[in-house]
Amino acid sequence: MQPTSSQQASSQNPVRVRFAPSPTGLLHIGGLRTALYNYLYARQHQGVFILRIEDTDQNRYVEGAEEDIIRSLRWAGLDYDEGPDKPGPFGPYRQSERSALYRQYAEQLVASDHAYYAFDTQQQLDEMRDRLQKSGNPSPKYDAITRMSMTNSLTLSKEEVERRLAAGEEHVIRLKVPRRETIRFYDEIRGWVSFESQGLDDQVLMKSDGLPTYHLANVVDDHLMEVTHVIRGEEWLSSAPKHILLYQYLGWEAPKMAHLPLIMSPVGGKLSKRKADELGLPVNVRDYVAGDYEPQALVNFLAFLGWSPGDDRELMSIDEMMAEFSLERVSKSGAIFNFQKLLWYNEHYIRALAPEQLLPRLRTAMEHSGYQADDTYLSQVFVLVSERLQRVQDFPTEAAVFFERPQHYDQASMDKSWKPETPEIVRGWLQLAGGIDETGWKADSLKAQTTAYLEAAGLGFGKLALPLRIAITGGATGPDLFKMIGLIGKTETLARVNALLERV
Ligand code: GLU
Repeated sequence: MQPTSSQQASSQNPVRVRFAPSPTGLLHIGGLRTALYNYLYARQHQGVFILRIEDTDQNRYVEGAEEDIIRSLRWAGLDYDEGPDKPGPFGPYRQSERSALYRQYAEQLVASDHAYYAFDTQQQLDEMRDRLQKSGNPSPKYDAITRMSMTNSLTLSKEEVERRLAAGEEHVIRLKVPRRETIRFYDEIRGWVSFESQGLDDQVLMKSDGLPTYHLANVVDDHLMEVTHVIRGEEWLSSAPKHILLYQYLGWEAPKMAHLPLIMSPVGGKLSKRKADELGLPVNVRDYVAGDYEPQALVNFLAFLGWSPGDDRELMSIDEMMAEFSLERVSKSGAIFNFQKLLWYNEHYIRALAPEQLLPRLRTAMEHSGYQADDTYLSQVFVLVSERLQRVQDFPTEAAVFFERPQHYDQASMDKSWKPETPEIVRGWLQLAGGIDETGWKADSLKAQTTAYLEAAGLGFGKLALPLRIAITGGATGPDLFKMIGLIGKTETLARVNALLERV
């Protein structure tokens, strides 16, 4: 077979790519990455990005899944040009609304002897598999050899086939996969890929419910929608030879193909939903929406999960990625999902937010946790905790010390820092602090005066810093001590320090 001739998407054609999810559950981050690469490719080439819903498998259909896909793409900013809710010249974009269209192509394949009607019952199929297994074939298939002993239009007389069809007998249409052929095609990421047809079964193209299978509908729609590049996950690589045969038998030019590397779990193997659950990793886009993550962070992270610009940059805006994305730089090997890295991106994009975008979200998060504050105070708090903030959701936890007194003191920190002389040093500081008036209560001058006080007493900074910090936060961690004290104010600071002194 000559793969090149059927695979030359001509360079004059405007780029048309599609994201073609099946609505079988919540959109996974792997799906969002596929959508993103398609989107970047389309935008880079001033092409068209299509959303096509592949819902021909009624058994796997999940109510609400399509809405979840659309909402997730919108949240991530991946706007498509044509789709179920964006009518275009190649619609409808939901396969269930195109079902009348597929049969003619299956019939065309039957007429050209590349497909056939098969009437086998489930029992006959089971018997065939049993028989082959007993005779030592571990993976029995309906293929070039077995098809000749089954009930189909290759073994029945023409009249018998017509009679059965006219009587409306249940049947499927199967692809007549050649017995021995090497199917080769060029993958934009992997280079030349070849499959032996012997390993393929006679794929069902039309099911007995009258609907096409994924394979037929996918090829027909990619052709009718003038898709120039199929960019999808590696899990579809093994389906590609069947698709290549279909393009060839239907006399169509195949689109270019690019199969993206798998997303791997940090502990090895493909990152399945089950594995992600075990590891407590969020993998549905909805988890990120609900968790109030930054869409740009997830997008930047996913772009780099299998692609890189070829230098050491890690932070890129969508516009930069659009300009620089290329399929050649997508890696062949699996990309490991590193959640810490995702949090690192999230932290970066939180800090990049404009105050008018950030403040309402901080306020909402605080209100959910039962705190009230004005925007000025919130933004001052944010400045102090932003370095420790990986998610907006974590803000109330990080900011709590600015809103309420510590409920308890960390014992380990106390044991480490509270010495017999500590109360005296702390009292001395209280005296100093009490003499500073509210207008002079600023981080810098508090720090300078405290340092002078300690130096005069011949004491190291640590003798006071940790006890003070424990008084303010209850523990040994938190933002800069003097900035914190400066922000919560004189009255509150003195009250907290006195409270600790009383407690010990
Ligand atoms: N419907 C397939 C999916 O759920 C599409 C695969 C492809 O892009 O061809 O991912």
